[in-house]
Amino acid sequence: MVVRRERHASKCVAARDRVSGAVLHWLPAPGRLYSRAGRGARRDDTLVHMRAMQLRHPAPAGPGASPLELVQVEEPVASDGEIVVKVAVCGVCRTDLDVVEGRVAARRYPVIPGHQAVGRVATVGEGVTNFRVGDRAGVAWIHWADGECRWCRSGRENLCPEFVSTGADVNGGYAEYVSVPAAFAHAIPEMLPDAEAAPLLCAGAIGWRSLRLANLSEGERLGLVGFGASGHLVLQLARHRHPDLPVYVFARNADERAFARHLGAAWTGDTAESPPARVDAIIDTTPAWKPIVDALGHLEVGGRLIINAIRKSDADKAELLRLDYATHLWMEREIRSVANVTRADVRETLAAAASMALHATVQRFPLADANVALARLHSAAGMRGAMVLDVDV
Ligand SMILES: [Zn+2]
Ligand SMILES: [Zn+2]
Repeated sequence: MVVRRERHASKCVAARDRVSGAVLHWLPAPGRLYSRAGRGARRDDTLVHMRAMQLRHPAPAGPGASPLELVQVEEPVASDGEIVVKVAVCGVCRTDLDVVEGRVAARRYPVIPGHQAVGRVATVGEGVTNFRVGDRAGVAWIHWADGECRWCRSGRENLCPEFVSTGADVNGGYAEYVSVPAAFAHAIPEMLPDAEAAPLLCAGAIGWRSLRLANLSEGERLGLVGFGASGHLVLQLARHRHPDLPVYVFARNADERAFARHLGAAWTGDTAESPPARVDAIIDTTPAWKPIVDALGHLEVGGRLIINAIRKSDADKAELLRLDYATHLWMEREIRSVANVTRADVRETLAAAASMALHATVQRFPLADANVALARLHSAAGMRGAMVLDVDV
């Protein structure tokens, strides 16, 4: 095995197998063994392996497909300023599906997806003061941002040109261990169980950010288009923030609509149906274009459409030809996308969830069944709430 040093954008030192291209996060320095360094770390010359669901190349993730392989790879080590988290559970996000199917390119392959990991700190690197071994920690989509550019300095680190994502730019949480700069890891409130905290790290946090961008004021109405992992959390967070807010949920599947009514939606229907009144803000969490055009038809004057998707599918792009300026956009209707999350989004979401005793509805799968979970997302069938992988079983 030939290894060479490599510097990530995150300034972490890692090693790469020149033959396979695998990032090892393990570095044999001349004359010295670089092990799981840090306080309390083991120091010997054994490469420690862990189980991971790894993506060698982007591939379709439909029913019966196995784009991810269960492999043994070297455990990550905590470089200076980093922690390594022993993952208990990792949420499954639509963005994972985008990475697996290639709509979002990884920085290198193979890569381990997953950006909603919750577990306990296994090792801490030099200089880490905010986490100790054994603390609960969460790893979200934001792995690192430079802190220096104008976006970072204005509280918009989610837009940083140097943004490094977990599970696409660097290895993520579909594995027994994941490393993260300690400054980008999140303390998990005591009262949130692992499996319910995991979906908050992305589905919840991006929903929280979308709600903020929706800029709702008293007396307005909110629409949610699509009702998956994010939608079911946004509905609860929105009703907590604005107790009298009527929330209309547009979902094509009757099961999702029933679930939305159970969680307090004032009205549910298909996007093609007209709600009882126009809505002032709509948060879209679907991968398609048809619901967007339909939703714009339900938007009140001065309304905001927030598109919460990292990529949209090209399959129904022709639907955009139905867009009519006078009906859908005029009268100062706005369309905005949501990109990534800031650490503050994640922190605020966790705090809000803890204070309101929010319950995420989760479906659990063993780590080795990650392909089954992705296939469900792919066909958008048989889902209720969020999906999580049990890693530490
Ligand atoms: Zn920046
Ligand atoms: Zn996500």
